[in-house]
Amino acid sequence: MIDQLHALAEAAGFECIGQAPATALQVRAEVRDMCAVDRCQAYGRTWTCPPACGTLDDFAARIAAHEHCVIVQTVGTMEDDFDIEGIMEAEALHKRRFAAFADAARAAAGAAPLLALGAGACTLCAQCTCPDEPCRQPERALTSMEAAGLLVSDVCAAAGIPYNHGRGTIAFTSCVLA
Ligand code: SF4
Repeated sequence: MIDQLHALAEAAGFECIGQAPATALQVRAEVRDMCAVDRCQAYGRTWTCPPACGTLDDFAARIAAHEHCVIVQTVGTMEDDFDIEGIMEAEALHKRRFAAFADAARAAAGAAPLLALGAGACTLCAQCTCPDEPCRQPERALTSMEAAGLLVSDVCAAAGIPYNHGRGTIAFTSCVLA
């Protein structure tokens, strides 16, 4: 399965792909706590962000139920440190790629459990229904790595891939556990 996921990640076009054992992933309360600061303005506004997404204990148990983690990155280029447009383009590309990769990974996994953790809030719908109506796509909805309590730089280190690809680049990271 891990080789199949790696091949699907390559086909999805990610610039950087790594692997780590699921046991290397550590759920940290301080990472989840950063969600409540609401810098991304998603706290309490999507079904896959805290508090609606479930507790850290839930995520620790879900992560522990898997063996492998495939980490994927979209690495974009920036004209300068203030290239907001370049950052937004890379983020949008990453979200499109990761949603497609997660769909393909679920299809490949069949009945086996699979946990896809994205970058930032779920944006599968133009407007999230939270908190007024149920999630429109509960099978596809994506919780972020941070909401699951994962420090992205730690996960990258466990996989032996860079968190930061250097000056003039911007990287967005997500992962799939199988
Ligand atoms: S799939 Fe749609 S409704 Fe469900 S969490 Fe994502 S954006 Fe919200």
